[in-house]
Amino acid sequence: MYFIGSPTRSRFWRKDFLNIETYHLYQSLLSGPLVDIYVGKEKRQWSVHRNLLCHYSSYFEAEFVGNEVPKAKRPGDKQRLDLPDDDPRGFELFVKWLYQGQLEDVSELPEESKYDYSVACHKLYMLCDRFDLPTLKNISINQYRRGLLEAQLVPDAEEINEIYKQSPRGSPFRKLMTQIAARQIMDPESEKDAESYRSCFENNPDFAVDMVNAIKTGTGGVLFNDPTEGAECQYHDHNDGDICQIKDKRRGI
Ligand SMILES: [Zn+2]
Repeated sequence: MYFIGSPTRSRFWRKDFLNIETYHLYQSLLSGPLVDIYVGKEKRQWSVHRNLLCHYSSYFEAEFVGNEVPKAKRPGDKQRLDLPDDDPRGFELFVKWLYQGQLEDVSELPEESKYDYSVACHKLYMLCDRFDLPTLKNISINQYRRGLLEAQLVPDAEEINEIYKQSPRGSPFRKLMTQIAARQIMDPESEKDAESYRSCFENNPDFAVDMVNAIKTGTGGVLFNDPTEGAECQYHDHNDGDICQIKDKRRGI
């Protein structure tokens, strides 16, 4: 269990902390009831200020207070929320952001933690999509990309497939996954080819279309040699190096 009884004060003392109204706003967000949230199949528990959740997210406002403005605790108020399909790694970052006002910068983490932090930032991104937090979504995909860059790692085919399938059509994470796969395939230094991503194509024509389009966009388009011109023997039914029977005979032309 991760209990946030006494939140850190950093949100209060940030440099952009301008006036007494803002101070009173945060005072009120950190008052009132705590709600228990159970995340993931393992039901990891957080106790979080309800006012804080509802202030930042219309999702939580709808869950806890409907259309009303959150008020002090009343009998019968909902005090518990189960989020079995969400990921505790992402939720942990969300709670830190709520109380500390910012995400940890992946650049300040040790080398060996960067990739795992990126993975958590992707989970956070998916939470933000559901909780209607567009700014935090953008911050988390920035951290995801920077984490990969600094770790000099890319997700493997299985991870790419998983992330692609979890993301909606046209989403930034779909775009990013197909661009990563496309770059791996096109990299002359890499041994990866389309075969490496076979699992991503299975039952998923969208992935194939997005990835080939990512190659076209990424290369700026490359005009191949015209396949209807020259090099006849590569289309003939004879072995390479065999003398071509039709080259010397008029009727073969
Ligand atoms: Zn031939």
